Amino acid sequence: PSIRPYRGRFAPSPSGPLHAGSLLAALASCLEARRQGGEWLVRMEDLDPPREVAGAADGILRTLEAFGFEWDGEVGYQSRRLPLYRAALDQLLKAGLAYGCACTRREIADSSVRGIDGPVYPGTCRAGIAAGRPARAWRARLGDGAIITFDDAIQGWQQQDLPAELGDFVLLRADGYFAYQLAVVVDDAEQGITHIVRGADLLHSTPRQIYLQRMLSYPQPNYAHLPVLINSAGEKLSKQTLAPALDPLHAPRLLWQGLQSLGQQAPEALISAGLNDIWDWAKANWDLRKVPVKRVVAAQPA
Ligand code: GLU
Repeated sequence: PSIRPYRGRFAPSPSGPLHAGSLLAALASCLEARRQGGEWLVRMEDLDPPREVAGAADGILRTLEAFGFEWDGEVGYQSRRLPLYRAALDQLLKAGLAYGCACTRREIADSSVRGIDGPVYPGTCRAGIAAGRPARAWRARLGDGAIITFDDAIQGWQQQDLPAELGDFVLLRADGYFAYQLAVVVDDAEQGITHIVRGADLLHSTPRQIYLQRMLSYPQPNYAHLPVLINSAGEKLSKQTLAPALDPLHAPRLLWQGLQSLGQQAPEALISAGLNDIWDWAKANWDLRKVPVKRVVAAQPA
């Protein structure tokens, strides 16, 4: 348990507009932070230019504002924090906890068993790169303590055997961009984040992040992973399934639906009462313990 003052965050990637799934993460992380008397930061995870959609970052922030979200401090941009990630990677390299890897995607796919997130890296370059081949990517060198357990505030007890299920995972990608796993750990530590509330699609990433926190001697935040929102066809709402962008004109109804999906039973009359009343109700009544564990179907329009 953390004795630092509560600080939460919402960390969208600008790979598409804010949609009903990401709204849940924004809403729950914000309301839990306010409920705990804490701060709530917004961090733009614009670390992956190949997946970035022009204008999405500003669009997400404008939508959050139009929905009545109020964050503390300036919005952080990962693209402006690359030296921090570089320093963390250097620290791991110096400690022998990371290494360069020359393997191509094809070589790894050919020689690997499949794990939870693609092929389990077989450790080909652990003892050094074959002569004449350049390092393409940098990987974490998993050692003792790489079987991670943690207690999620919503999903309960979790365990992951990193060597068996992932293998030495990537920290700096072959295309030259830092991996999400490294950047998010550096940012959460550097920004003093104590509590992480986010979608359960990231539950299987958390053990990698806890592992890196330990290797970098960072404090471990508390975790709460929200149920994944699915549509009536049973598909996860995401940019991939082309979840529709949220229309600020319908902000009261969409917030109300988000609260329903999060198990909060907000009175339906709040929809016509408007944004301020919804926020007042939500801040006064938010209860993380009511959030369902399993996937939830997006609430239908009232
Ligand atoms: N940027 C990530 C996403 O949008 C979320 C990162 C996080 O909350 O840790 O999926």
